[in-house]
Amino acid sequence: MSAHYVIAIDGPAASGKGTLARRLARHLGFAYLDTGTLYRAVGKAVRDGGGNPEFESDAVFAAQNFAHSLKAEDLQNPALRTDEAGQDASKVAKYPQVREALLQFQKDFAASPPEGIAGVVMDGRDIGTVICPDADVKLFVTASTEVRSKRRYLELTAKGLKTSMEAVMADMTERDARDSGRDTAPLKPAEDAHILDTSMLDADAAFAAALAIVLKGLQRS
Ligand code: C5P
Repeated sequence: MSAHYVIAIDGPAASGKGTLARRLARHLGFAYLDTGTLYRAVGKAVRDGGGNPEFESDAVFAAQNFAHSLKAEDLQNPALRTDEAGQDASKVAKYPQVREALLQFQKDFAASPPEGIAGVVMDGRDIGTVICPDADVKLFVTASTEVRSKRRYLELTAKGLKTSMEAVMADMTERDARDSGRDTAPLKPAEDAHILDTSMLDADAAFAAALAIVLKGLQRS
């Protein structure tokens, strides 16, 4: 048994994993890290520097610089939450040296929660497979492409952004293909992950299902 608990939550874009992870962390009083924000911040740093996130040298340079001077407030920037930032994140995330540059920060977060905190919840694409292979509980949260696209479409239009279901679904399919098809740390459930399909669940039902899995897992560990 580890000195503190580690909960790994992975899944594709708009599966609801972020909302679930945040809510689980709040409920359990655990520390929380949204690892997607790290890749988003690297993508943004590439753009801010006038580079192209598709170019490996631009992505690696930005990731190594970013990792050196990483501060918690860098991850709070609302500009990181756009769909473009998500696409840029997924472009830089396929390069092994970018992932390598962000690895230690994530491992340190998992290994040392702040004083008095009993555990950590981390969400991303490779938490259960690469970052925390020994996590106490691994959840892989998913939903059909249609459901995820609809959720994202409603989210974007609620913010006043003009888009169409077709455009959102095309973006989602492109990002899924890139995240699942890359050679390094592709998006896939760990062998010992619990799969939670939220296609037919609202946020409260998804949370109840996730909490039940987590509490059972923590009892066993
Ligand atoms: O989860 P989020 O949508 O913020 O992630 C943005 C992108 O960052 C993902 O599409 C994925 O390419 C990348 N990512 C990753 N590994 C993680 C978290 C995110 O490759 N652990």
